[in-house]
Amino acid sequence: MAKRSVLTLVSEDASQDAERGDYDDLATGENNDSEEFDLERKSRRAETVKKDLQMQKTEGGVFSRETLENVAKLGVGGYIDRIMGPISTGKEADVFLGELKGKKIAIKIFRLASASYFRNPTVLQYIIGDERFKKIKQTPHDLIKSWALKEFRNLKKAEEGHVRVPKPIAIEKNVLVMECIGQDKPALQLLKARVDDYGKVFTDIVSQMARMYQADMVHADLSEYNILMLEEKPYIIDYAQGVLLSHPKAEEFLERDVRNICTFFRKKGVDCEPDDVLKKVKEKKVKGRVKRVN
Ligand code: ATP
Ligand code: MN
Repeated sequence: MAKRSVLTLVSEDASQDAERGDYDDLATGENNDSEEFDLERKSRRAETVKKDLQMQKTEGGVFSRETLENVAKLGVGGYIDRIMGPISTGKEADVFLGELKGKKIAIKIFRLASASYFRNPTVLQYIIGDERFKKIKQTPHDLIKSWALKEFRNLKKAEEGHVRVPKPIAIEKNVLVMECIGQDKPALQLLKARVDDYGKVFTDIVSQMARMYQADMVHADLSEYNILMLEEKPYIIDYAQGVLLSHPKAEEFLERDVRNICTFFRKKGVDCEPDDVLKKVKEKKVKGRVKRVN
């Protein structure tokens, strides 16, 4: 797998969480001491992560050989050291807790077997309308890989736009590696987390949405399920459905995201009006140039 370069922040002061900067090292793969990084160590690590994964149980049964190979490649590349256990088992993907250079990572494995998911036109529209994926083959198998790649690219795009997201580390076909939100234990979804000040979190989320919009993107599946809470700060996750603003339904998706967020926060006593929120999200967009929002 090709080595991926580290994404550096465009402007230091726009970074919201400078203290998380040391995560950048992880996205480089291998180790700095690559002189002594020999073939034997690489293949040993590939075997370790493969075995780790084989020990895990998923709802869909065993992992395919292809998935195990993809995980092994990420081991060889220096993007996964260990896979420890499941964080979540969902409809289209399983998320595992892993370790890389002493830090916790989240490994999202999209099910190659969930082909029927991609026969659904509602699901298909998120990828077919995206100009970045115009030329992809539309077999369910290829679609899943593009779906995973789309999440990875959207995460990068969001990160570049200074949206608070898990740092994307690597992608190999249907396996995506990213920073784990919550190093002691994985962070809880907004729905389940203890929150002291919902008003503050709401304002923060609107600011994240504005950053995303400025980065030319709409999340398109935003809800209290896809926001993780760590130390009262919201992290938006699950970007596979995210589309560029050029997508014919981008506006519709954005309005739905805003409505979902307002519905949740209204129940928590926050006074919010979808029209006002929509205006806030869109107001700082300057055509042809990314302007910073705080
Ligand atoms: P589902 O099919 O259940 O909707 P999904 O495909 O939508 O799953 P995600 O929403 O990306 O997948 O992740 C599922 C769950 O895994 C999240 O709700 C969260 O609990 C956990 N999770 C995902 N990414 C991370 C991360 N980077 N750090 C910590 N936990 C994570
Ligand atoms: Mn989700």
